[in-house]
Order: sequence, then C-alpha cells, then structure tokens
Amino acid sequence: EAPLVEVKDLKVHFPITRGVIFDKVIGFVKAVDGVDLSIPRGKTYGLVGESGCGKSTLGRAILQLTPSTGGTVTFDGTPITSLGPGKLREMRRRMQMIFQDPLSSLDPRQNVESILVEGLAAHGIGANRDERRKRVAETLDAVGLPRWALSRYPHEFSGGQRQRIGIARALVLGPDLIVADEPVSALDVSIQAQVINLLEDLQDQLNLTYLVIAHDLAVVRHIADVVGVMYLGALVEEASSDDLYVQPLHPYTRALMSAVPVPDPDVEDQRERILLAGDLPSPANPPRGCRFHTRCPWAQPTKCVDERPVLRVITGTSDTHRVACHWAEDIQSGVLQPHDVRA
Ligand code: SF4
Ligand code: MG
Repeated sequence: EAPLVEVKDLKVHFPITRGVIFDKVIGFVKAVDGVDLSIPRGKTYGLVGESGCGKSTLGRAILQLTPSTGGTVTFDGTPITSLGPGKLREMRRRMQMIFQDPLSSLDPRQNVESILVEGLAAHGIGANRDERRKRVAETLDAVGLPRWALSRYPHEFSGGQRQRIGIARALVLGPDLIVADEPVSALDVSIQAQVINLLEDLQDQLNLTYLVIAHDLAVVRHIADVVGVMYLGALVEEASSDDLYVQPLHPYTRALMSAVPVPDPDVEDQRERILLAGDLPSPANPPRGCRFHTRCPWAQPTKCVDERPVLRVITGTSDTHRVACHWAEDIQSGVLQPHDVRA
C-alpha cells in the first residue's frame, strides 16, 4: 500500500530582504532544505530536533500551510504542492494540525461548541445545524470531554483539557492526517501521558496517520513508529523507533540521546555523555559540507567540511535505518573516536 504522505526533496527557503523602497533579496533562510520522507497509513512519524531546526516549518509545509519553494508533497496520491487554492482547501479537511499551546490557537470569544461547529460549517460538513451539533457532541465524547464543555470558553479549561479541545477541533472534520506540533510540551508531565494515550487510542479507532513534532525524544519514542531527526533544515537520521533508540548512528542523534535524563536515580547511568560545542548555527548561513561539522565531536578535516553527506543505509543495520554521516561505519565500530566524550 502506498504511504499516505510522500515528501520528496522538499524545500522552504524564505528570502531575506533589505531595502526601504525597493526590497532587494540578499539571501535565503533555508528552513527546510531537501527533505525526503514518507508516512505510512495509520502510522506515526516522529520528527525531532532542537528548536530552530526547521521541524515546525516542515510540518506546516507538508500541509501547505507554509508554501514550499521546491520539491513535492503527495497526499493520498495527489501532489498537493501543485494544487490551486480551491482544491487545496478541500484537501485540507483531511489534513489537520494541532498546536503546542491551544489557548493561542483557540478564539477566546467563542465557546467550545461554536469553535467546533465553525470548522464543520466552513467545510460544508453536515446537512443542518442539528447534524453538526450531533457530530460535535460525538467528537467531545471521543476526546473525553463532558458535554457541559460545549457552552464554556477556552480559558475556563486546564491545559490538558484545552489540548483535548484542540484535538476535537481537528478530529471533528474527519481527517486522515494530523500534524501535531509539540502537542504535550506545554503540559505538566502527569498530563502528558494522558494526551499521548488519547492520541494513540484515537489512532487505533480511526486509523489516523500522525506526524508528531517534538524537541523531546522521550515523547516521540513512545508514540512514533518511525523517527526522523532533523538538524538545520535536513534529516540526519531516520529509523524505526526501536532501531533508533537502541542504536543511534548519527553523532547528533547520539548527542541528543545522551542529554535525555535517566528515569531511575538508583541505576547508574553508564551511557556516553556527548557535549556539543556551540549553538545551533543560523539557517541563513549554514556550515558547508556536513552542516553538523561545527559541533560534531567526530568531525574530520576536509571531507566533513567539503561534502554534504546524504541519507544512506550502512552495513550491519536495518535497511530502514538511514543516516547522513560520512563516517557512520567507523564511528559505529569505534575505529573513529570522538575528540570530546565525557564518561
Ligand atoms: Fe560528524 Fe563528519 Fe559525520 Fe558530519 S559527516 S556527522 S561532521 S563525522
Ligand atoms: Mg501508534
């Protein structure tokens, strides 16, 4: 079966302009710069990376909420990157987004019922008001909110409940794909699991396909079938969730994982500690060659600085595990040692 979403060489380059009367383009922020990925139906793709790496822009570009400047997105067989605005709007019912902070994306002057009915009316779903109200009430049940919530306003709810409203607003339209951008990072840890479990239950019941964007590897590990790690506008590694967490291959992924705290304080943490030098470079002026070379503890002169590595499968790992590093084999085998690893 063909994947629901196929992304090929996707680019989102924002022009940087200067000038008072005549804007002159002086460069581009390459927020997304040549991403290939596909999301199978009914599965969850987890997209992780530091803030500023382009993961939110990629998520929005997959829905064409942010226009891409190159490459293609195919949704259920339709190349949506070449659709006109009318057709794209029709398609958008099937591709919904949920956000980190529902309060900023929910209209504070509308009660929950009108927030949900509005989407239905906009997409011409439901023959009349009664049908729409019935559908709204069923959606409320599905996300675990009581019926009395209908007459309340977003600020009257807790963060977790508000995220349920955000999920309901997406769900009421009957989407196939939901892009969830940091869906739990604004919530208390105790509430995070509830929202993640809800998303998983809804996926099982409705065969939903998810793209879950998070800076937190721990969140994605639980929910994702496939994980892509993004750095400065490009994927540096992609693998099944199990493979990635057991055997991260890219130096950046290894560094991200070494930063995840160990849950049990009584168990001695024997994992490697990799400290990255410096901050994320600007996507307006990314390092040439391997974009990670300015921070990579294994970076080698010449090749890492001159040649941009492509995502590839390396010997001895699963053929769905791809990594963009010139030295992945030697790093994996230990032949190449980091310049800077703290035990
Ligand atoms: Fe590090 Fe070089 Fe691999 Fe890039 S290609 S991750 S700089 S070793
Ligand atoms: Mg799942």
